Amino acid sequence: MSRIIVAGGGHGGIAAASLLAKKGVDVTVYEKNPENGMGYDWTDIFDPKAFREIDMPMMPVTRFEYKEHMTFYSRNELTGLRQQIPPEKLEIKVERSDLYRHIIKYARENGVKFEFEREILGPLTSGSRVIGVKTDKGNEYADLVIDACGLDSPVKKNLPASCGVNPETGKNNQFYVYRAFYNRATEDEVEDKYKVCLFGEGILGIAWIATEKEYTDLLIGRFEPFTKEETDRAAEFYRMNNPSLGRELKRGGQFVKIPVRQPLSKLVCDGYAAIGDSAYMTVPIIGSGIANCFRAAKMLADVVTDDTDRAFTEQTLWKYQAKYYTKLGAGYAVLACVKEALTLFTPDELDYLFDNGVITASDLSIDADTRNIFNIMHGNTLETYKTKVVEVVKDPALLKKLMRVGAKISAVAAVTSAMPRLWSKARVRAWVKAYETVICRGL
Ligand SMILES: Cc1cc2nc3c(=O)[nH]c(=O)nc-3n(C[C@H](O)[C@H](O)[C@H](O)COP(=O)(O)OP(=O)(O)OC[C@H]3O[C@@H](n4cnc5c(N)ncnc54)[C@H](O)[C@@H]3O)c2cc1C
Repeated sequence: MSRIIVAGGGHGGIAAASLLAKKGVDVTVYEKNPENGMGYDWTDIFDPKAFREIDMPMMPVTRFEYKEHMTFYSRNELTGLRQQIPPEKLEIKVERSDLYRHIIKYARENGVKFEFEREILGPLTSGSRVIGVKTDKGNEYADLVIDACGLDSPVKKNLPASCGVNPETGKNNQFYVYRAFYNRATEDEVEDKYKVCLFGEGILGIAWIATEKEYTDLLIGRFEPFTKEETDRAAEFYRMNNPSLGRELKRGGQFVKIPVRQPLSKLVCDGYAAIGDSAYMTVPIIGSGIANCFRAAKMLADVVTDDTDRAFTEQTLWKYQAKYYTKLGAGYAVLACVKEALTLFTPDELDYLFDNGVITASDLSIDADTRNIFNIMHGNTLETYKTKVVEVVKDPALLKKLMRVGAKISAVAAVTSAMPRLWSKARVRAWVKAYETVICRGL
């Protein structure tokens, strides 16, 4: 029987472990945290259909609720664009700790073994093949290592260059986030229960203020790291227009990072496959990654169980990469260009786009089924497109910027569609080089 190590208890890693153990594979998850310290002390939103897609039971109805529609504002807060998402596409909101309890219980029922409080220090390799992991309590060997250690995975970062897996995340490709739940300072009815402010303080970044029954959830996200003092200043700034945001810290209050970029150019090498944040599987414009890594888990588990020779080479695992890019990755690679466009606009330009109908509520109605740019664009009518064109043409500087975004979208779409579906060393190396060249090219 083959032995598989899941490095880090990421959502995708645990889901893949469950699916593999169900098929009789010997799988162990090594996680640095204790079992009761998994995840963060806050809630997450994701597509509930993802449970069904990986044959995992849904969480009990008492443990989730449906998410509120978000209302987006640019800096001047003149135009609020509220999402229009049909009920069947609404995502659910769960406590992250509950989600972890649910998936770990299910994984154990399927035979997955967990080793908590085991820190992974890096991969063990023989030539360019990964043969296990170094941990703080000794080496562990396996036929395949699934890397679910997150954005800063020490496995990915310490792979030999000959594996061809690029560990660099790149500028503006990770979001530095502070998230905290404060007391709800007023009982007054709040119109925009889930308010998202783009460039709120005139700074490149976002904030959300989500007013819940018991607390108000504040998230501040920027492309550069920031300090606790800046967070406190930002919180005071948002309190001016959001009286529900109190000062008493109830939960959370941590700095974290979220990848917001194109998927990793090479998800696999001999004896290794990356999943979840270590492979940049989030939806780049909103940073949601849970449903996608569940879906990727199914793709990976299918490819691993189809490899009856248990070779787990780059060649056999490439089918996982091909499936991922075909079903999700290619669409997200293009959506990452839309995120990149945000870094191009000034706060005044964004106000203009909001206030003149260039960005519409429909554009921001990202739902459980948003997988590519067409899913976002299809909600606009011919009339709204005419308005967009007329308003953009009025501003030559803006038009120029949008044309650069358009050119990058076309280049990324072209290079992702050229990804070899069948593995050959030379073709894969050439494609990875071309993909990285295109995505690294600034706007
Ligand atoms: C503030 C915030 C809000 C988010 N909100 C949402 C949301 O609403 N919806 C959504 O879909 N997604 C959300 N995400 C993204 C989501 O958390 C991730 O995309 C998703 O969890 C997949 O990440 P992961 O499990 O691969 O990585 P991680 O969540 O980073 O998990 C990695 C695991 O590996 C462990 N680990 C790391 N290093 C080591 C090591 N050296 N040794 C052993 N173990 C190690 C970690 O302890 C952790 O358990 C949010 C992320 C953040 C930060």
